[in-house]
Amino acid sequence: MPGNDTIAAAVAEAWEHTKKVSGGENADYIPALASVDPDLFGISIVTVDGHVFNEGDSTVEFAIESISKVFTMALAMEEIGAKAFREKVGTDPTGLPFNSVMALALHGGKPMSALVNAGAMSSTSLIPARDADERWRKILAAQSAFAGRTISLSDEVNSSEQTTNFHNRGIAWLLYSGGFIYSDPMEACDIYTRQCSTMITTEDLATMGATLANGGINPVTGDRVVSSENVPHILAEMTMEGLYEASGDWAYTVGLPGKSGVGGGIFCVAPGLLSIAAFSPRLDQFGNSVRAQAAITQIAQELKLNLYLGTGGPRAATQFGASSGITNEVLVSTPH
Ligand code: GLN
Repeated sequence: MPGNDTIAAAVAEAWEHTKKVSGGENADYIPALASVDPDLFGISIVTVDGHVFNEGDSTVEFAIESISKVFTMALAMEEIGAKAFREKVGTDPTGLPFNSVMALALHGGKPMSALVNAGAMSSTSLIPARDADERWRKILAAQSAFAGRTISLSDEVNSSEQTTNFHNRGIAWLLYSGGFIYSDPMEACDIYTRQCSTMITTEDLATMGATLANGGINPVTGDRVVSSENVPHILAEMTMEGLYEASGDWAYTVGLPGKSGVGGGIFCVAPGLLSIAAFSPRLDQFGNSVRAQAAITQIAQELKLNLYLGTGGPRAATQFGASSGITNEVLVSTPH
């Protein structure tokens, strides 16, 4: 594990250096996101020992958007098992945009990945619940357990998305016709839209990532949030599809599983060590924050976190999954 001073210096330097990066545009197909101050910029790191490092606008809340797909995927895997999840949703990259209809057509209607819109709605629909309200409460509880605090819905973002999500509604009906949605399709689209409209800070996001870095135990609360066997599946999926068509380039340059959202957030996970989260609203053509990518890349390279460095990186002196060992509660049970 890099020392605390080294991490703090890397975060401060990355913020200073990459705040000059100004390319890209706010998402404008969701009206509430178009009006967010494009210059906001925050970075946080949370380590598996529970140390927190913040820089810039790290207390500003932003819409979680597609980053929510990771936590709903985790919940669905816990509830139905990783094997069934793989059969019902798929666990491969699509190589196409996050809202691609062509990706469905090419794969017999199967979403392929829980990290594209189709697979996310499919995952949402898989969570066992008596009704839509219970399903939504489980998803919100999972986000909160990962973040270690109560996460809330933004009514403004939600109503902005609910009144403009015609493309996603079309995808939900295509999933229904192909047999890959497991509840009422419009209900799945509605809950998916809500799960994208919750508000988080970079500190929340880095805590969520640190829970995955820590084998499924939230290092700040000590709660087990997801079973350790499912963590590698989640991180593998993030590697393949986390930044959509840019996922391959991200693996090539950064070498850490990551996930982006059109709200401008990105987080990545250095297993056994820490998570880096950054937020800035301007996006590239794939829907990934330009500045957040630059900041995380700089920090990951400075701290030599690339997974594929093997014994050359900080993992040389660290045991995988090192944690406080404190486990208070299993929030998402595995009945198999
Ligand atoms: N809610 C957004 C959508 O469905 C999420 C997309 C994203 O963050 N990539 O389009």
